[in-house]
Amino acid sequence: MNAVPNERTAIDALRNEPLRRHTSWRVGGPADLFYAPSTIAELTRILAELPAATPVHWLGLGSNLLVRDGGIRGAVIATGSLPRELERVDDRRVRASAGLACMLLAKRCVRWHLGPAAFFAGIPGTVGGALAMNAGAFGGETWTHVESVTTIDRRGDVRDRPRADFEIDYRTVRGPATEWFLGSTFRFEHDESSSMDAIKELLARRNAAQPVGVPSCGSVFRNPPGDFAGRLIEQAGLKGLQIGGARVSDKHANFILNTGTATAADIESLIAEVRGAVERTSGVQLELEVRVIGEHAPAEKGEP
Ligand SMILES: Cc1cc2nc3c(=O)[nH]c(=O)nc-3n(C[C@H](O)[C@H](O)[C@H](O)COP(=O)(O)OP(=O)(O)OC[C@H]3O[C@@H](n4cnc5c(N)ncnc54)[C@H](O)[C@@H]3O)c2cc1C
Repeated sequence: MNAVPNERTAIDALRNEPLRRHTSWRVGGPADLFYAPSTIAELTRILAELPAATPVHWLGLGSNLLVRDGGIRGAVIATGSLPRELERVDDRRVRASAGLACMLLAKRCVRWHLGPAAFFAGIPGTVGGALAMNAGAFGGETWTHVESVTTIDRRGDVRDRPRADFEIDYRTVRGPATEWFLGSTFRFEHDESSSMDAIKELLARRNAAQPVGVPSCGSVFRNPPGDFAGRLIEQAGLKGLQIGGARVSDKHANFILNTGTATAADIESLIAEVRGAVERTSGVQLELEVRVIGEHAPAEKGEP
């Protein structure tokens, strides 16, 4: 790829767009091509026009992504500029588009007395990201409420799919390959007593237990069955462990913070260190919840 930063292509891509601008960890090298379509028609055209061999990566708010320092060879499609739509289908169902922030979904649903949607306030990502991750918080989980989804495939073809087309597990969603989410119809039970106070209370509880205001990706590791990754990391004495600008939070051990100067390589090294130490102390092999994508920076290549 030609390394001219931010040069526009014929179909309105940014070239070499630094992904640290688009991830909550504030790290990540450049994407060869970065698209932020503002309509579904534009998105369809981008997918149809991209050569079939070009890898495509989907990006919501980047709150669960570790993008390596060498960046992404291929195209990144960000959903943040797509229309953010939310409509009430009937007294229990709503339809939300992929680029909508989960917080907005939670707030609007709670106003509509669809109280069980309040948990979405704890997920600082988009509806599309929550669908891809089966994100969950405060005991609620995204796919518990999914009735159907709309997807788009690599050629730009759009289709509706029932929930039954997907296999759902803890933070795992398996469905048709190379299809991404454009939106979903959710069903929530009616709860006349639901109010914004419930959301405020959930967030206050969360802020007391988790670091806020410092770049992170939330929980780095999945909780192993019957246990908590944070407990195992704390038990291994790793709170406060630091590599470069990446640090295991003193408040919640399953959070790795960017103290300001972290690279993706610092974070990845710390992840490896934590994994090794937890395996030695408790015999548990922690699995990643965050998704790691992209290439190592040239200087890292060949390092062990
Ligand atoms: C402070 C903090 C707290 C967090 N707390 C929680 C929590 O309580 N519970 C929880 O589950 N998560 C939590 N997270 C993680 C994160 O917010 C969720 O995983 C969220 O669902 C990711 O959404 P996103 O839009 O940021 O997705 P991204 O991080 O941009 O992408 C995540 C994955 O989803 C894919 N993706 C994104 N959009 C689409 C789409 N439209 N179609 C198909 N695939 C798509 C991406 O390709 C990528 O593989 C937290 C993160 C932070 C920073």
